[in-house]
Amino acid sequence: MSRKKKFHLFENVEIIDTAARGKSVAKSPDGRVVFVSNAVPGDIVDIKTGRKRKSYYEGKAIKFHHYSKKRVAPECEHFGICGGCKWQHMNYKDQLAYKQKEVTNNLLRIGHLELPEITPIAGCKETYFYRNKMEFSFSDSRWLTEEELKSEEEFTDKNALGFHIPGMWDKILDIKKCHLQEDPSNLIRNSIKEFAVKNNIDFFNPRHRTGLLRTLMIRISSIGEIMLVIQFFKEDVEKRELLLNYIADNFKDITSLQYIINEKGNDSIYDQDIILFKGRDHIFEEMEGLKFKIGAKSFYQTNSAQAYELYKIARDFADIKNDEIIYDLYTGTGTIAQFVASKAKKVIGVEAVPQAIEDARENARMNGIDNAVFYEGDMAKVFTEDFIKQNGHPDLIITDPPRDGMHQKVVKQILAIMPEKVVYISCNSATQARDLALMKDHYTIKKSQAVDMFPQTHHVENVVLLKKKK
Ligand code: SAH
Repeated sequence: MSRKKKFHLFENVEIIDTAARGKSVAKSPDGRVVFVSNAVPGDIVDIKTGRKRKSYYEGKAIKFHHYSKKRVAPECEHFGICGGCKWQHMNYKDQLAYKQKEVTNNLLRIGHLELPEITPIAGCKETYFYRNKMEFSFSDSRWLTEEELKSEEEFTDKNALGFHIPGMWDKILDIKKCHLQEDPSNLIRNSIKEFAVKNNIDFFNPRHRTGLLRTLMIRISSIGEIMLVIQFFKEDVEKRELLLNYIADNFKDITSLQYIINEKGNDSIYDQDIILFKGRDHIFEEMEGLKFKIGAKSFYQTNSAQAYELYKIARDFADIKNDEIIYDLYTGTGTIAQFVASKAKKVIGVEAVPQAIEDARENARMNGIDNAVFYEGDMAKVFTEDFIKQNGHPDLIITDPPRDGMHQKVVKQILAIMPEKVVYISCNSATQARDLALMKDHYTIKKSQAVDMFPQTHHVENVVLLKKKK
């Protein structure tokens, strides 16, 4: 019995839109949606699909009949294999237009919201080399590209230091030059790799749980301070010191050189001891005269320059008066709270990660801010009637939740308190739309502005100003 064909070929199809996760969209002859992984709206292509899903197809363009005007040549030699920058093949103006469209569509289709005139999306000045933090993984069995496999060349060095291949937890693509973090990021990463290979310091193998070197984090702040955190799988004093001394001797500009011995199954550093090898255990970031201390585990927005633009938009929307009480929900290390504190009577920040709250308090002290208080805890649990009584009724709530949006209990509590103004900053306009829908009977959306923090990717932030209905 012949097996049923598992894939389809759709010929001469136009790519009509972008979709979630950096994909694009076409329509199949049977009228279903096809999500395509490697095309740009305006391309005309032949698509080979994978297995059909319930109501749609997923596929890849295997022949291009016409290239879209929206295309540009990707900067990076790793584009198409590395999962990092899926939109590098689209010009920046069109990236922004599609981001804007996604936000507006989500607010309209998911939230069924009444929108004011939308302020145009705020794009980035720097569309490459904008990240202040990168995390690379070591592997002793690097991913070979199709070209390398076809070349019949023998590859003796199988070590990689780079990024995970999308969807494959144990496959690492060796990165020669990443266009997301400015130098000396590439120089440091490549030197570490070369030195480790030369000196037989083994790279990790997650399947067999062998090798020494696991991950490398590089942070470079906007004032040029540099933090390196290297994660080892086992303690090997001789090899560890050999590598760390090499780094310290050759990169004198590093402000903070730290390491971790992590024998766990996963790479997460949040439950690990971080050991200082040289310099300080933190670096500093600066914004509008404020200083922020950043430890290895601290959250800080990864695009420093654009974080400043995002915060300014939020602060302008909020139009803060000096007698106002502000709540900054999901405050992280309290950056927004401190950014608005000088304009307000009092700011109350809430955040689930204990270290972040410690950093927030210390940063506020360092910045001479005495009208901000910070509480640790899960928003859904901390944000009670008693909490409001204790801290005062807010005139303004600024909320900046993670991708999942706000817990329903948090939305309900905002509706129970009914501050005059709410500024909702979101990195996922779908969950933002869902949350705003719950509030639409009581609040009017006065302003909405998308902000691009991550050029060359499909990610987009959105800031909304809500005012209480009279
Ligand atoms: N506003 C901050 C951080 C935003 S990121 C800034 O701009 O820097 C979202 C933050 O929400 C993270 O710090 C995360 O730790 C925190 N968080 C996630 N779930 C939470 C919850 N249930 N309760 C409180 N904080 C939470």
